[in-house]
Amino acid sequence: MGKYGNWQGIPREEIPWHPSVDLEKCIGCKECFNFCSHKVYEWDEDNNKTKVAEPNYCVVGCSSCKGLCSQEAISFPPLAILKDIKKTQQERMKK
Ligand code: SF4
Ligand code: SF4
Repeated sequence: MGKYGNWQGIPREEIPWHPSVDLEKCIGCKECFNFCSHKVYEWDEDNNKTKVAEPNYCVVGCSSCKGLCSQEAISFPPLAILKDIKKTQQERMKK
């Protein structure tokens, strides 16, 4: 198992699930950084903005931090991609 573990039997690194921050919108309020205990975010002192430092530590399917951002600067892929990945993996396991 890799550094980031597996999700549904797939290495976490292969699951494109993590927040993206629009730095144009981010006002550096630190809400997301203070909230997430998974060390996904790092604080960029130089720019006084948040930074997605460890995207693979993000819990697959979680999007809790998104709702905290008053600037709507945080986005995630649509949840449907996880369903598709799961389905493809199940089909692969059957072979
Ligand atoms: S919650 Fe939004 S505005 Fe605040 S630091 Fe995070 S991304 Fe920036
Ligand atoms: S979605 Fe959840 S685990 Fe991922 S960065 Fe936000 S709060 Fe952390």
